[in-house]
Amino acid sequence: SISIHQVRKEYDGDTGTVTAVDDVSLEVSDGEFLTIVGPSGSGKSTLLRMIAGLEDITGGSIRIGETVINDVPPQHRGVAMVFQNYALYPHMSVRKNMSYGLKLTTDLGSDEIRRRVEETAEMMGIEEHLEKKPNNLSGGQQQRVATGRAIVRQPEVFLFDEPLSNLDAKLRLHMRTELQRIQNELETTSVYVTHDQTEAMTMSDRIVILRDGTIQQVGTPEEVYARPTNRFVADFIGSPS
Ligand code: ATP
Ligand code: MG
Repeated sequence: SISIHQVRKEYDGDTGTVTAVDDVSLEVSDGEFLTIVGPSGSGKSTLLRMIAGLEDITGGSIRIGETVINDVPPQHRGVAMVFQNYALYPHMSVRKNMSYGLKLTTDLGSDEIRRRVEETAEMMGIEEHLEKKPNNLSGGQQQRVATGRAIVRQPEVFLFDEPLSNLDAKLRLHMRTELQRIQNELETTSVYVTHDQTEAMTMSDRIVILRDGTIQQVGTPEEVYARPTNRFVADFIGSPS
């Protein structure tokens, strides 16, 4: 589980302080798939990056399970993140991309690492691409590698920042189904950021609507659609008025 308590992020910009996340509190249960939606600049990525440890937390605390992770280095938080641009290492083979994190952060032997990478590659349908470099792969294949690289670490928590937005509509639909299958299979806890309302409505146990760094509503897709708490949520979700 993830427990976000009064979390705040202020950036020092050229024009003064920007409050990107404004005292957000949120609980994510074990095995839950939680989606964050909201306009551009509402703080979605900042919140994910604070959970991942890629951004300092200005105030408040984040727990994963029983551990407060504010000061835990990213590689020891038990989280794995999948980025919009995939952020694969271009000079490494797919196999290397997937094994690198395991070598760095665990004391698994090379046989065990090889076994895990190949098992995950099979799960993601990329086993025939293991020796290739990422730029020889299609967008969809790179997306699978990025997801596989996260899965192979067997994290407690998956963080996804618009992972499907670079794919065409058909592939996006296919990968959506694929991600749901993986979620059901692994029962990890996932926080998923998307601009795609259909993704949010179909994949999520619950949806969070962010605006200007504050939570407008948290609820199941049915709840936020049928009973939006304010005009903003209704307009954003496209509820019937
Ligand atoms: P998008 O949907 O466009 O990805 P987002 O909801 O992910 O938007 P964030 O990237 O979290 O939004 O940004 C939240 C706010 O923080 C914005 O006002 C943004 O300009 C500001 N911000 C983000 N990163 C930085 C930074 N490194 N320095 C200064 N301000 C930043
Ligand atoms: Mg973002």
